[in-house]
Amino acid sequence: MSDSTYFDYNATTPVCSEAKDAVISALDVFANPSAAYQSAKYAKEILAESRQRVAALINAEPEQIFFTSGGTEANNWVINTVLGYLPFNASIVSSAIEHDAILDALRGYCVQNDRQCALVAPQPNGIVDAKDLVQPNAPGSAGFIALMFANNETGAIQPVCEVGQMTRDTDIFFHVDAVQAVGKIPVDVQKIGCDTLSISAHKFHGPKGIGALYVRNTERFAPWILGGAQERGFRSGTENLPGIAGMGAAAKTALESLSDSFELLHNMRRRLATGLDDAGIAYTVNSPDLPYCLPNTFNLSFAGVRAEALAAYLSLKYNIEVSIGSACGNNKNTRQSHVLKAMGLDQDRINGAIRVSFGKQTQQGDIDCLIESLLASLQQLANISPEVNKEQCVE
Ligand code: PLP
Repeated sequence: MSDSTYFDYNATTPVCSEAKDAVISALDVFANPSAAYQSAKYAKEILAESRQRVAALINAEPEQIFFTSGGTEANNWVINTVLGYLPFNASIVSSAIEHDAILDALRGYCVQNDRQCALVAPQPNGIVDAKDLVQPNAPGSAGFIALMFANNETGAIQPVCEVGQMTRDTDIFFHVDAVQAVGKIPVDVQKIGCDTLSISAHKFHGPKGIGALYVRNTERFAPWILGGAQERGFRSGTENLPGIAGMGAAAKTALESLSDSFELLHNMRRRLATGLDDAGIAYTVNSPDLPYCLPNTFNLSFAGVRAEALAAYLSLKYNIEVSIGSACGNNKNTRQSHVLKAMGLDQDRINGAIRVSFGKQTQQGDIDCLIESLLASLQQLANISPEVNKEQCVE
């Protein structure tokens, strides 16, 4: 591993020791959990225990948890099955700041099936108004709403409980992408009242490639992958037992340390803001204030600076890893954050935005080091001709 200072916890997190140990022990449990003989019994027990641990993290029942390959699959599952059995005139509404695992799945479904989807813009603070999501649904008719719990780029916490309350006892199916929230802040499916909710283990110190979908009531739901009828026939395929064991262990650890880590992250965020002010660095914050923001996320813009240049400078010169937008945006060469754009920020602010996200392993000294390196990088970038700065980062 590199000795860099990591500030990209919203992209992924280091695997905790509890999850590592669980993965390693589960690798030795090679029996197929579906088998009927004795040695499969232990594999079944690992599955059951992990399901129970993941359920506990979001206050669900174990039988409401279905393991998937991650948050992307969980979101695609919901969109590609639920929309199919809604009446053709049912409204489909989501927000313009969702992760691409929602937006692209919705676009794909709507193009293939000749359906329309309304994407609601957030308020300038990055938070969507619950009424804007619910109002497009004609009273008494069926509909579908997808809303993320917390935004991956700004950390803005969305009004999922409000939407849950407004859609309760209606024919509106409500899906929540809680990938960024679970493990960082309390997530309680009973309080939200959603129909489905997506989770991903690698965002809370579990392994990558494993996640889960919470389904409130399977009578309102349909299978996704057909085959050997694993996951009670809803998601076939031999289970990823080591991944599931790791996710279960990470879920247990996350639940046990939730309030301590909230306090810790909150303090880090405060230290970063105060440190930037004390260092005389000019910046604007694109994340809402606490408590309307994930405590570990700080999206900042520096006027007249290209974020790509700043991030590259921080990485190459100071070994500090921050992100510009989301990690997935890099796969698509997406230069512009659709989130900041939807918030209506001006071009200069969008071009100069970096995301700093920290976690349990972040030390106070790391924050101080980030501030010093930011100060030095910004001064050095200001000395480079603006034209060079621009050329490095063509849109
Ligand atoms: N939803 C949100 C809000 C995310 O931030 C991410 C990943 O960054 C995903 C979904 C996709 O999750 P996964 O990486 O498990 O596929």
